[in-house]
Amino acid sequence: MKKKAQSAPPYWNQIKPKLNQDSRIRPEVKNILNKIDGIVWELNPPPDAPKAVAYVSSEDANNNGKIDKIHMVLSNLPPNVPGSMDQAVDQILDMLEEDIGGILAHEGGHIADFNPNNPQNPFPGGEGVADSAEALFHQQKMAKLLTFLKENNLKEELYILKKISEQT
Ligand SMILES: [Zn+2]
Repeated sequence: MKKKAQSAPPYWNQIKPKLNQDSRIRPEVKNILNKIDGIVWELNPPPDAPKAVAYVSSEDANNNGKIDKIHMVLSNLPPNVPGSMDQAVDQILDMLEEDIGGILAHEGGHIADFNPNNPQNPFPGGEGVADSAEALFHQQKMAKLLTFLKENNLKEELYILKKISEQT
């Protein structure tokens, strides 16, 4: 029986351009993001990882031995964002972008770690390397904000942010 393809959550079209512009996301992850069927929407998580929001599988390795798909689990993602309060929606979308970006960075860590020549242990770095990639993504938020302020010539905000980061 052929599995019916699921579709992306309704906010995906708003999150995807944000992810594409995010310099913290590795190019190979962006390639997956923009490829048809690169993101595979799953209704439910795999039985051995009921809390997984996303996962990669050695079964998705292409001819070059690279994993070129990321599975996203619809039942563990927010189903929707409220459509009324415009201001709040923007903030919610930014938060979602940060969350989903971190998840993609995590899966990107697994993809970079994947070794098709070692079927006994195809992900030698385990959760450690993926968790580090995810943590790095969130740590780079300050750097991203600085770049944004510089690019938009927001000198006053830049000055304040620099003062804050000097203190911490
Ligand atoms: Zn993981």
